[in-house]
Amino acid sequence: MTLKVLESYQKYFVPAIPRTPTNRYASIILLRETKSYAIFTTEGGEEQDVEEVSAGQSHSEKITRLVMFKRKQVAPERRTGKALLRQYGIFPYAIKDGKVVYGEEALREKDHYADCYLPEGLCTHCPDCLIYGYAAIEGEGARRARLMTDTCFSIRPYQIIQKQIKFNVIDEATHTSGTITEYDYTTPGVFLPAVETTVDLTADEFVYVLGNILRTSRYGKEGTRQGFVRNHILAIAFSDVELFANLEFTQAFYDALVEAGKNLVDDPLTLADLLEHAPSVIQKLTANLTGRLRLVTGDELEAILQDVRELNQDEERLRAFLKNLHEQAVSFAIKVAETEGRG
Ligand SMILES: [Zn+2]
Repeated sequence: MTLKVLESYQKYFVPAIPRTPTNRYASIILLRETKSYAIFTTEGGEEQDVEEVSAGQSHSEKITRLVMFKRKQVAPERRTGKALLRQYGIFPYAIKDGKVVYGEEALREKDHYADCYLPEGLCTHCPDCLIYGYAAIEGEGARRARLMTDTCFSIRPYQIIQKQIKFNVIDEATHTSGTITEYDYTTPGVFLPAVETTVDLTADEFVYVLGNILRTSRYGKEGTRQGFVRNHILAIAFSDVELFANLEFTQAFYDALVEAGKNLVDDPLTLADLLEHAPSVIQKLTANLTGRLRLVTGDELEAILQDVRELNQDEERLRAFLKNLHEQAVSFAIKVAETEGRG
C-alpha cells in the first residue's frame, strides 16, 4: 500500500486484484462544476444532451436537465491516466520470462505492447484495462469494469444554464465576414453531482482512480471546444452495497435547496450553497442502506486527498508507484491467461 493514510481503511480494499467479486465498494462522491463554456453532445449531435426528469425526490414536477453520459465522464479520466502511464515510461512494455520490461528492452521483444489506447488498441494488461475494463478482444475475452457510474444531471433546469452563441467567421483572404455559426453551450458555474463507485480495487488502484479524477479538467465535446470542468470531492464512502444513482443525488440537492428557500431559476447557485447542503443530502440518501457504510468526510477526507496530491507532486515516488501498479496488473493478467489456457 503506497499511501500510509489508507492503512486504517485497509479492510475496505482487496489485498490483490481478485478473480471473483467480493463487493467491496469504495465510492467517490463529487460535484462536477463547469468553469468555462462547455458542449455536452453525443458524437455528431448538434444539440446538447438533455432529459426530462422529476425535479426532486419530493418534487415530482418535470424539468429538463442537461445530462453528461457515463462515457463523457469516464473516457476523459481514462485518457488522463493513460497519458500519465506513457509519460512515466510504462509504455512500451513487454513480458520477458514472466517479468515486465520497459522501454528499449521492451521494443526488442517480439510481443511487446507499444501503447494502450481507446477504443481499439487496449493492451489488456495495464492498470487502465484491468480497472476500467474492455469489451471483447480477440484471444483475450472481455473484462468487466471495476468502476461504475451512470449519467449525471444538472441541478438547475437546462433553459437557464445554456446559451446560444453565434460566431462570425472572418474570411482571412477577403477580410469579409463569412459564415455565421451558432453553438449551444453550457454556461460556466453549472453543477452536476456524481458518484463513481469502485468495486474490489486494491488501495493503490483506488489511488490511481482518484488521481485521474483530480487531474482531469477537460470534459465535453472532443476536439478544440472542450470545456474546463473542476471536480470537487465531497466524500469517500466504503460500503458493501451501491449507494445511490446520480439522478437521485441531483434530485436530493434540488429538494434541499428548494426547502431552504432557494429559487433555482432566479437565484444564483454557488459551490458554497452546495457544500452547505452536501452533508445532509448524503446522509438522507444513505440513511436506509441495506448494508454497512463508512463515510469519510472533513479532515479525514482532506488527509487522503492531500496524500494523493503529494504523491502526484513527487516525480520519483509517482514513477515507482505507477511501475508497481503496472507490475501488479501484468502479473494478474498473466496468471489469468495461464489458468484459462491462453498463456
Ligand atoms: Zn491497457
